[in-house]
Amino acid sequence: MQAYQLVEWQQPPELRDVPVPEPGPGQVLIKVGGACACHTDLRVMDWPAGLHPYELPFTLGHENAGWVEVLGAGVDGWRPGDAVVVYGPWGCGRCAACRQGREMQCERNALIDTPIGGFGLDGGMAEYMLVPSARFLAPLHELDPRDAAPLADAALTPYHAISSSSGLLRPGTWALVIGVGGLGHMAVQLLRAVTPAQVVAIDVDGSKLELARELGADETVPAGESAAGQVRELTGGLGATVVFDCVGSDETLKLAADVARDGGAVQVIGLAGGTLPFGYGALPFGCSLTIPYWGSVTELMEVLELARSGAVRAHTERFSLENAAEAYARLRAGDLLGRAVVTPQG
Ligand SMILES: [Zn+2]
Ligand SMILES: [Zn+2]
Repeated sequence: MQAYQLVEWQQPPELRDVPVPEPGPGQVLIKVGGACACHTDLRVMDWPAGLHPYELPFTLGHENAGWVEVLGAGVDGWRPGDAVVVYGPWGCGRCAACRQGREMQCERNALIDTPIGGFGLDGGMAEYMLVPSARFLAPLHELDPRDAAPLADAALTPYHAISSSSGLLRPGTWALVIGVGGLGHMAVQLLRAVTPAQVVAIDVDGSKLELARELGADETVPAGESAAGQVRELTGGLGATVVFDCVGSDETLKLAADVARDGGAVQVIGLAGGTLPFGYGALPFGCSLTIPYWGSVTELMEVLELARSGAVRAHTERFSLENAAEAYARLRAGDLLGRAVVTPQG
C-alpha cells in the first residue's frame, strides 16, 4: 500500500510502498477514510535529527478516522465496516489517568517522547493503519470518516481547553479565539455549542473571519495593531474572560495577554513557537496561562455527540494521498480554509 512517510528529518516526506500491517492480538486494522494535516506535523518535520527518539521512517497522520477492516485475535464489539475515529494519545491503559480516559496525561508514557500513531509510529496517511488497541476506537455511526477525522484533534484539543475553562465562561462573558484555522474554526463552533459566552474571533485573513461569522462568531476583528483596542471596546473595556490562542506566535501571545481579563485565562493551543515574557504585570491579576494538551476519550465521545447533533461540523478540504505534500504546503502557507484531510480511499 501507499503511505506518506517522514524518511529524513528536515526533508520533505515521501510517498512510499509499504506492506499492509497485520493486526496482532487486541489490535485492529483500519481502512483509512481521512487523515488530517496538522501544524504539529510541520513542527516534527522541522525537528533537527536527534531531538526526539522517534525512529524513521514512520507514516504521518495523528488525526484519523476510517472503517474497521480486520480485527486482531480477541477483539470483540466491532465489526468490519464500522465507521470509527481513532483516539490519538496512546497511553499505557493501566495508570489512574488512563483508566479515567485521560490517556493524554498518562503517568507512564511521556507523550511527545513516547511514539504514537503519526509521531514515531505509523499514522493514518496511508491506505490502512494499525491501531494497537481497540480501546482507541470510538464509533462514528452515521458520520463519514472523511468529514469526522478532524474531530480527533482539531476539535478535541479546543474542546478540552474549553471544558477546562467552562467555569469562567458564564453568561455575559466573552471568549476570544485567535486564529481561525483548523483548530480555531472548531473552537468557535464548540464555544457556541457548549458555553453561553459571546465569541469574538481574530485572524489576518478576511475569508477566515467570514468563515468564523458563518460558524457563529458574534464578532470578528482583523489582526493588526488595532485588534487589542477593538476587543477592549467590544467587551466594554473589560477584556476577554478566556483567550484561546490557536496560533501561539510572539504577536498572538502578546495580544492574548493584552486583552485577557482580570481573573480570566489564556489557553495557548497553537504551536507557532512564540514566547511570552512572564513576570509581574505580564498578565492581568488572577489570570492563568495554560498550554492544554489534546483531550480525553470521554471528551472525544462528547465531541462526537456534538457532531452527530449537527452542532459542530469541520470545514474540510480533501486531498488524495498522492497530493498529501500539497496539503502540507498549503497548511504551511496558511492557505487553507478549515482542515486539510487526506482521503486515501478517495
Ligand atoms: Zn494535531
Ligand atoms: Zn497510562
